[in-house]
Amino acid sequence: MNSAASDLQLTRVCKTYPTAGGELTILRDVNLVVSRGEALAVTGPSGSGKSTLLYIIGTLETPTSGTVRLLEQDPFGLTPAALAGFRNSRIGFVFQEHCLLPQCSVLENVLIPTLAGGGAGPAEERRARALLERVGLAQRLAHRPAELSGGERQRVAICRAMINQPPFLLADEPTGNLDRQTAQAVGSLLLELAREQNSLLIVVTHSTELADRFGRRVELVDGHLKERE
Ligand code: ADP
Ligand code: MG
Repeated sequence: MNSAASDLQLTRVCKTYPTAGGELTILRDVNLVVSRGEALAVTGPSGSGKSTLLYIIGTLETPTSGTVRLLEQDPFGLTPAALAGFRNSRIGFVFQEHCLLPQCSVLENVLIPTLAGGGAGPAEERRARALLERVGLAQRLAHRPAELSGGERQRVAICRAMINQPPFLLADEPTGNLDRQTAQAVGSLLLELAREQNSLLIVVTHSTELADRFGRRVELVDGHLKERE
């Protein structure tokens, strides 16, 4: 495939943090090319830089050197306002902690990413309801997050990530707080929704069981990204 047509391209991405004890190198010359329709699992030991890598891909963190191209653009070349708009419309995030707003209902939480685009009209609300129905939460629209199980909260967080139909769906240990069976269901949902929406899915996980269900796996070792098997 022509690499110019890839949706995500990292070239020699490095990340270091200054610390009292000197410079701490987290990512060393990371190269990665991924296209829409692919599902990628990122594994590696705790502290190996998985979240850092995902946050750089998601434009929440800047690389120290190297280039990031998303949909043929350099997001870090955008103004802060343009970058925020790009992130909001192109990237859906799911975190280990669901990060739902406790005072908002399930339906309201899913609609939050539409606020930046001018608010939730009937079309957005229809889409939110359809997504929540799709994940089996049609009977929970008015619940508050505290009134849901852990797996249900994570399903709401996935709907919130998908509401703007982002080309990129990024998840950081999305099943880390769930029991095995619930984790399997949430993993299936991420894979199925990404396939249905033709999103590029990247999931960081400790779970080899989850990673093994992905079409492509990479591992972070000593700051280097290695293709697995
Ligand atoms: P993982 O997600 O694989 O567990 P992280 O990407 O969260 O790893 O962190 C990788 C390393 O970077 C860790 O050793 C962490 O302590 C360090 N780190 C993360 N953020 C910062 C920061 N803002 N300043 C200094 N070190 C950091
Ligand atoms: Mg992490």
